Amino acid sequence: MFFTHDTEVTLTATAALVNTAGGDGELLPDLAALEAFYATYQWTGRPPRTDADLHAVRDLRPRLRRLWEADEDEVVTIVNALLREENALPRLVRHDDWPYHLHATPDDAPLASRMAVEAAMALVDVVRAGELGRLRICAFPDCGNVLVDLSKNRSRRFCEAGCGNRAAVSAYRARKAARRRT
Ligand SMILES: [Zn+2]
Ligand SMILES: [Zn+2]
Repeated sequence: MFFTHDTEVTLTATAALVNTAGGDGELLPDLAALEAFYATYQWTGRPPRTDADLHAVRDLRPRLRRLWEADEDEVVTIVNALLREENALPRLVRHDDWPYHLHATPDDAPLASRMAVEAAMALVDVVRAGELGRLRICAFPDCGNVLVDLSKNRSRRFCEAGCGNRAAVSAYRARKAARRRT
């Protein structure tokens, strides 16, 4: 584990959220899709209830994507703005099976606010650790998905949408084609 557990979980969930607006088309087409996403990534607090929740979450994604693309100074500007706009107020909480960790929005805050603040809080850890380099864009041609490299040897290059397999298959085909030519 490189960061604290809650930070790693949030980074993974935030990458997944950004990738719902990825090259595979809109993966949050309706409220039901957002409810499923909320359950899959075990967000807590107020579940999404309305189309307004859906639109707020969708609108947040391009801003979160910048956290993967921007340089450190711009990332810091975004993080500070998100914390300020949402009036983030960190406190230690313990719930379900989780040990003490940070929440910084009220429990009844809209889902998009919670997502924004949790992402910002996780990025606070990443920036302080000097580890922004672990937030990467998938190396598979034309994929464009974001990923978080939590591996010990910083070796992760592909997103979770199967690009690692796709890259292995194309490398295999390239080797086979090379053998045929020789
Ligand atoms: Zn929690
Ligand atoms: Zn990919």
